[in-house]
Formats: sequence, structure tokens, C-alpha cells
Amino acid sequence: MQFRPSLITKLTFATSLILIGFMGLLDYINLKNFRNVMIEYAVANADQVAEIISQSTYDAMMKNDKASLYQMIGRIARSNDIEHIRLIDREGRVAFSSVAEEEAGTVVGKSAEMCAMCHKTHNPRVDTSTMNRSRIYRTADGKEVLGLTKAIYNQPGCSTGACHFHRSDHRVLGVMDIAISIKNLQQKSHEYRMQFIVMTCVLLVLIGVLITFLTRRLVNRPVKRLMRHAALVASGDLKARVAATSRDELGELSEAVNRMTESLGKASEELREWADSLEQKVEERSREIQQMEAQLQRSERLAALGNLVAGIAHEINNPLTGVLLYASILNTDKRLEAALKPDMERIISETRRCADIVKQLLEFSREAVPRKESFSIETVLEKVMDLFHQLPGFHTITVNKRYDRGLPQIYADPNQIQQVFVNLFINAGHAMPDGGNLSIIASRSGDGAFVRTEIADTGCGIPEENLQRIFDPFFTTKADGTGLGLSISYGIVENNGGRIEVESVVGKGTTFIITLPVNGENTGA
Ligand code: ADP
Repeated sequence: MQFRPSLITKLTFATSLILIGFMGLLDYINLKNFRNVMIEYAVANADQVAEIISQSTYDAMMKNDKASLYQMIGRIARSNDIEHIRLIDREGRVAFSSVAEEEAGTVVGKSAEMCAMCHKTHNPRVDTSTMNRSRIYRTADGKEVLGLTKAIYNQPGCSTGACHFHRSDHRVLGVMDIAISIKNLQQKSHEYRMQFIVMTCVLLVLIGVLITFLTRRLVNRPVKRLMRHAALVASGDLKARVAATSRDELGELSEAVNRMTESLGKASEELREWADSLEQKVEERSREIQQMEAQLQRSERLAALGNLVAGIAHEINNPLTGVLLYASILNTDKRLEAALKPDMERIISETRRCADIVKQLLEFSREAVPRKESFSIETVLEKVMDLFHQLPGFHTITVNKRYDRGLPQIYADPNQIQQVFVNLFINAGHAMPDGGNLSIIASRSGDGAFVRTEIADTGCGIPEENLQRIFDPFFTTKADGTGLGLSISYGIVENNGGRIEVESVVGKGTTFIITLPVNGENTGA
């Protein structure tokens, strides 16, 4: 797996590097300054020692008492920190050395390290600062020491004293060279450096911890929350939200992401609803198309049958009228034997039945042009119901009616529509020979352009295989049925711009739904 440093690691690493760089530079400058200050302090100290030596040896010098002068300087030189004290005269001859007695009398050149400071140029620097007269160097045994050279000036007493031989025009009589050990100074400097380094490291660790903690809290956590949220959204959870706990840019980003997720959720919801409704619409349309196709087929079949039936009925009607007429004449003839009378009456009644069937056939085939007008469906339904209430077969049937308030008038042929309801009521009565419930519900369709009438019975129901055939002419399951009632009703409803549908469950009942158009002027739409 490829190593991918986290944001926090990168930030901590970069900040630590910058911090280490800055603090290192700061430490370097600080330590350098500290050393300079220490050296200045040591030089001032050395100068003070030189001054003390000059002051305390003044009398011995005036008296030219060299023995006590050297003894005094030698005693001072034995002090802990003093490495050596030398007295060098104008000619560079060592008059006194605290290091070795043999040095006395030796001549030191102007290029010697203690002389070179002032004798760099042709004219020696006489009144120069203590810093210019000092130097740090290493002794033969490797010790680091601070050397200071102090000029011994010609005093009025030096050139006028009886014992003295110094010329009055000589301003400097010689120099005192003092070397002081800077071991203590180095020790202190080392301790200070160590303290400084330790403090810097502690500070670095503290700052590092603080930065890590703050970055984790202020950056890492919100970023991780955003990442988790993105993963949830990617997995399809568009209801997920990020908790925006801060008011900074990351807080604003969280809010923006929440807004984005919400919009995404809405869009996806709309898309789903749209897809659902599309699917539903496609299903509805397919169903409608199927129904229309079935209706068309049925209409074509009916039209073809209508022509055939019309021809046959017409042909049968004439002889049938003749048979009925002659049978009626014979029946009233006195010559007819009484014993034959019942048979003759039977011939007349059966012929009448045939005539009725032929009449129905003609009605079916004729497809009379509807005489449309606006009327209330309630009125027609009530009229038909009044008629049926008087029939003995309907006494065992309970009728429930529900008409919507303010139903608009429909626009159709009222006589034809009445015939349709008569046919449906007769069939409902036949389906419930032992009684039952007949519900009649009239309501306005969703778009307000139609009135829907449901006629539901609790009768025997129609088996699935018959449902497709009940509107076909001559389809009947009754012994004395003609199979014309529903096909005539179908033709009527269609001719009046409506639709007839059926729903049925065997053993539970059948519902016929008749949808008829509303009169365009009273739709109230
Ligand atoms: P007929 O009533 O002369 O049989 P129809 O065309 O009116 O002719 O009816 C055709 C067939 O449809 C009936 O024979 C019957 O099987 C069925 N049918 C019609 N209405 C109902 C109903 N309400 N309940 C059960 N079956 C019905």
C-alpha cells in the first residue's frame, strides 16, 4: 500500500521544520551575544586587575624598588584565574615574568601576539580601548586565555625622580601583559548553552503537541466528518447531515455541503416520483390502449353482426307477423275445437316471444341515432327504480343509493340510457334470485367532464373467462336468455359518447360502471 501522510502529519512536520529553523537561528544569535557579553565582562575584569596592579605598585615604581615591585606582582599573579603577568619595557625586553624567571631579559618582537595588537601599523596605538587591547588565544598546553595589554605611562615623578632615568619625551615606558584564564567563563557559557538547548527542545515539543492538538481539533475532525458524510452520500444516504460545530471556513463548508446534500435529496426524490408517476402513466396508458383495442374489436364485431342480424330479423319479421296474425284469427274462429284452443294460445305466445326477440334484434342492429339532451342521471335512475320496486322479484333486494351533491347534468339520449339501466337492473335481479344488495352510486369524475354511475350487486358474479364475452351479442348463460341485453347497452353507451366497464368476483358480486359525458355548459369547470 502506498504511504499517504495525513494532513495533520504534513502540517506538524512543516511547522516543526520551520520552528526548528527559527529557534536554531535564535539560539545561535543569542549564544553568540551571550559569549560577547561574557568576553566584554572578562576584559573589563582583566582591565580592573591591571589597574589594581598599577595602583598598588605605584610607590614601589616611584622608589624604583624592583624587588618589592616584582614580589607584589608575583603575589597577584598567583591568584587562581591569572595565568601570567609580564612587564615589558619600551625596547621589548621582558623586565618581569610570573611564568618563568628565565624569561626576564629576553626580547619580545613587535610581532609577538601581545604586541601585534597595537603595533600593527607604523605608529603604535597608544590610547586605544580595552577591547582593542585584548585578545583570546590558546596557551601551549591548550588552555584558552584572555590576554590584556596595558600601557605603563610616563608619570611626572618618573622622569624627575633622582633615581630615575626615563626621558620626559617618552610617553609610554612599557606595557603590562596580563593573561587571565577564561575557564569559568567557558563553563558558564557551556551551562547557558545547554540550558538554552534543553529549553528550546522542551518548547519545540510543547509547540508540536499544541499544534497537533489544535490541528486535530480544528482541521482533522471536521475534515474527517466531511469525508464520512461524502461516503454516506456516495452510498445513497441523502438524508445524512454534517454537524457544523465551528463558524470558520470549515463550518461554512459543512453548511454548504449540507445544503448541497439537501438539494440532491430533493432532486432525487423528484426524480423518483417522476419515474414512479411515469411508470404509472405508462401502465394506465397501456391499459387504456388495450381497452380501446378491445372496444374497437367489439365495435367492429357488433357492426358486422348488426348487418347480418338486421337482414335476418327483417326477413323473419314478415313471416312471423303473418304467423301471429293467422294464429290469432284461428284462435277466435268458432270452428276451432275447444280442445285445440290451449295449443293455439301456446302458438300465439311463442310467436309473440319470437316477435319480441326479433324486435330486440332489430333494435340492436338498428343502432338508433341518439337524441341527445341534458338531463339529470338521478331522475332516470329513480324512474327505473320505481319501476323495479313494483316487480315481485325485487322485493327481496335492498337498494342503497348515493348520489354526489350537485351532480352536473349529462348530455345523452335519456330513453336509451334508461334502457341501459333497465337491462343492468334485470341482470342484477337475475344474479340475486334469493335477494341481496344493490348499490347505486353516482359521482362526478376526477376531471369533472363525466358522471360515473356504479351499479353493484352482491350476486353470483361472472367467471373470468366470461368477462370478455358478456358484451358479445347472443352470449348468455341463462336458459331463456337472448344474450342481447348487454350488447345493446354497450352500443347505446358508446353512441352516447360514454363507456361501460365491468368488475366481478365470482360468489361476491358484479359492478357495472357507466361513464357518461357532462353537458359542456353545466360542467361548472
Ligand atoms: P341475457 O341476460 O339475456 O343472458 P345479457 O347480454 O344481458 O343477456 O347478459 C349476458 C350474460 O352476462 C348473462 O347471461 C350473464 O351470464 C352475464 N351477466 C350479465 N349481468 C350479470 C350480473 N349482474 N351478474 C352475473 N352475471 C351477469
